[in-house]
Amino acid sequence: MIKKREFISFSGSCPYDCKHCYTFHCAQNSGFKEDDITRLSKSILGKDFDIVYVSGHKENFVNPDVGIDLCEKLFVEHSCHIFAITRNVFTDSQVERLRELSSLMQARGKKLFVAVSISALESAAIVENTENLPTPLERINFLKRLYEAGILNILLLRPLFNNNIIPISETMKIVDLLQSNVSCVVASGLAVNDGILSKMGIPSEAFRYAAINSSEYLNGAIVGDNKLVDITEEYSKLEKKCKQYGLPLFSHSMEAANWIADSQLIEVSA
Ligand code: SF4
Repeated sequence: MIKKREFISFSGSCPYDCKHCYTFHCAQNSGFKEDDITRLSKSILGKDFDIVYVSGHKENFVNPDVGIDLCEKLFVEHSCHIFAITRNVFTDSQVERLRELSSLMQARGKKLFVAVSISALESAAIVENTENLPTPLERINFLKRLYEAGILNILLLRPLFNNNIIPISETMKIVDLLQSNVSCVVASGLAVNDGILSKMGIPSEAFRYAAINSSEYLNGAIVGDNKLVDITEEYSKLEKKCKQYGLPLFSHSMEAANWIADSQLIEVSA
């Protein structure tokens, strides 16, 4: 079972500058840069973990080759499972690099999970600065290419909004488009603070909030006070949609990683 995780992330401001981003606000220019792969990898030496998330303070695959270099280094030095998260899309040769790494890891009993975040289709501009990053449809196509390459891919529907702001029907359309091309789906709700609300230009009263501010899935990525939006109704609709396709839906990425690892869904060709 995959139990303990560590986060590894380049630092500095994220060029994507998403409006909902909580990690962006805590990004400090306090250490690692893209050329510090060796130092980043060494920073978790001696720690107790099963999986390393290449995720945290910023998008780590702005230059996908640099992010893949980091993943390769992590596997060489730690022989661990790796969970890479991105909002970017990769070229065919970069997908091939991932396939080779995935294949090598698989041969040694480890897994490479590649999760692609998509928050909306037509309403993407509510959550992202759309001129900064690939369109949702380009990311959907990227997920399909990962799947075709035999890479363990995960659709990250994050963050979910209340239906009055981003209709859940829009999110369910993403599932329709990817029903046969992803290993599973992970979805969780938006967390907001005054800065995020102001960046999105949405008043606090527009949201319903969770009674219990449980945000374990954000541990390691978030600082400060943030209120969790209550997406119970939206999640339940999404659950029905995923069930319709026999597609597992999880609220935590670790559950998804364990489910994939247990079910051995995809055999990566050597
Ligand atoms: S890509 Fe990720 S880290 Fe960068 S701004 Fe968007 S949500 Fe934040």
